[in-house]
Amino acid sequence: MEFTRSQQLYEESVQYLPGGVNSPVRAFRAVDRHPLFIDHAKGAYLYDADGNQYIDYVCSWGPCILGHAHPCVVRAVQRACEGGLTFGAPTEQELTLAKLIRACMPSMEVSRLVSSGTEAVMSAVRLARGFTGRDKIIKFRGCYHGHSDGLLVKAGSGALTQSAPDSLGVPADYAKLTLVAEYNHPESVERLFAEHPGEIAALLVEPVAANMGVVPPESGFLSFLREITKDHGALLIFDEVITGFRLGPGGAQEYYGVTPDLTTLGKIIGGGMPVGAYGGKREIMELVAPSGAVYQAGTLSGNPLATAAGIETLTVLSQTPGIYAQLDQNAKRLAAAMRESFGERVRVNQAGSLVGMFFTGQNVMDYETAVSSDTAAYARYFHAMIKQGIYLAPSQYEAMFVSAAHGEAEITKTCEALRSAGERLGG
Ligand SMILES: *Cc1c(COP(=O)(O)O)cnc(C)c1O
Repeated sequence: MEFTRSQQLYEESVQYLPGGVNSPVRAFRAVDRHPLFIDHAKGAYLYDADGNQYIDYVCSWGPCILGHAHPCVVRAVQRACEGGLTFGAPTEQELTLAKLIRACMPSMEVSRLVSSGTEAVMSAVRLARGFTGRDKIIKFRGCYHGHSDGLLVKAGSGALTQSAPDSLGVPADYAKLTLVAEYNHPESVERLFAEHPGEIAALLVEPVAANMGVVPPESGFLSFLREITKDHGALLIFDEVITGFRLGPGGAQEYYGVTPDLTTLGKIIGGGMPVGAYGGKREIMELVAPSGAVYQAGTLSGNPLATAAGIETLTVLSQTPGIYAQLDQNAKRLAAAMRESFGERVRVNQAGSLVGMFFTGQNVMDYETAVSSDTAAYARYFHAMIKQGIYLAPSQYEAMFVSAAHGEAEITKTCEALRSAGERLGG
């Protein structure tokens, strides 16, 4: 395999872009090599600037659940282009997308479209503060909710593999409104509610933590969060930017049967275009401008191209019988192959089409156990897979995303590559 073109492009990019990239994890620093520059993608496959082909398990970090350049989605965007790129005025397509979202996630009675997951979560937090008249929020160590100031506190994902987990430039006075609990540890949440009576506006959670690797909720954890927030008059916000339309049409809230007050979406609902959404109960959402006094706006919100890609993606998902069962089955096959190939060296978590393999002897159920993983071993695994044409997340703390474009041939080839990597990397 040749990587010379990627290397050249990277060396030139660092002169123009910070770290050579437009989002940190893309720089491959956690696996200690230059990034691969992507030329194009189709279905389950990525093609880099040197012409190498890979089976892709990053899927743009989640949006491409149908695979890359799905013909129906591409056609929908092309059609939308012909009709004008943006109007800054309401369209019927926005109504269609809001209806599709509510049909799948009944808790999102009213929703607002924005342009990224970051924007969705940031806006939902403002709304929760406006609604409750309280300032503090609770989040979990290792959960990522976008890069807005107050949420870059003990964030997972890219921030986890940097030397400083929290960002410079976030005022301490602002960060102190964010209280941090331990994922899957109810007592840590109880303690914060007890220490800050009547002050907590909302508790924010990734219902399946997927930015510290994949860490599913323990049985009863989400319903505990539902109860305790209700008891204290705080809102429960599910950040379903990853899990929405991935664990099933109704996201984690349907999968685990726990209904939040507000939900944030992104990634899949844009079908590969920049879209986010937040929504929930009508009585809360009515507080958003112009019907209420919580201000939030966007020049490109509900953009026609992004909306078209989202509508088409959700439509294909809902009209393909058995699609989620198939995704789940393929993810289970991969998880089984990982356990078989790496044995006691690893622990594998799987929730729907999210898979996470940790190089640790401990069961991974919280932040502490997630970071017990040997990240150098992960990097060796990453390289062993790249050499076999399998493109994994260039970091231990990102999920492996299975898409509907991963068919029998791709899954089988990946299982073989896992076996060979397991042998090559020694026992
Ligand atoms: C990706 C992600 C976000 C941020 O979305 P962007 O579109 O990258 O701004 C927020 N929350 C979760 C759970 C995410 O995985």
